[in-house]
Amino acid sequence: MRYLYVVDFDDTLFRTRVFWRRFLFPELKRIGIPYDISEKVYIASTYKMFGYFIQSLFLSVLHEACKEENIKVSISQINKVFKKTVYSKRARRYFYPRAIEFLHRLKENNNPRILLSSGDKKFKSRFFKALGLNVFFPRGSIHITKKPKIEFIKNLRAKGPVILVNDVLKETEDMVSELQKVSPKTRAFFVDYGGHFKRKDVKKPIELIHSLSEIKVL
Ligand SMILES: [Mg+2]
Repeated sequence: MRYLYVVDFDDTLFRTRVFWRRFLFPELKRIGIPYDISEKVYIASTYKMFGYFIQSLFLSVLHEACKEENIKVSISQINKVFKKTVYSKRARRYFYPRAIEFLHRLKENNNPRILLSSGDKKFKSRFFKALGLNVFFPRGSIHITKKPKIEFIKNLRAKGPVILVNDVLKETEDMVSELQKVSPKTRAFFVDYGGHFKRKDVKKPIELIHSLSEIKVL
């Protein structure tokens, strides 16, 4: 039986952190919004408050912050820049090297697969479509959840073995132990791009990797 792959998006397939700061914020700067305001609003108004990004909230709080600083920019101007940038094909440059190749291999091997991502459904569905992820994940296999991912895992009821691919170790450990209750052959790849972890930090059946090219698709 083929493994079901449950793949995370943010900072596993996609360089999310870098994306906002190196891609969107410089574009906002071109219409007069200083980098530190974009950064402050991004962290305080959406991410810190909800644990994920919310487009409409970000745009309206950013506009308010600009008004306070006497920066003359309209909400529709900000909106336009946001859409033109975030939902453009150029955003695809922020996939990690080997991420698309890995997705191709999953698809070619015909593995059942799920893209599991926490966040705001409205924003992420549109974003994923713009990034071309629908090509790799058949209808119904993209799950965007506002709750901790473990809640989704608890209800997964996988019929066969599962392989998780994720960039947060503790979360991966919790998901693995939950999955092992129904699917003892569950395995996981913990992607540590920054090289912060050592082999001894990561226990079986989780494997420490530094690139998605290290995954041999089973
Ligand atoms: Mg992640």
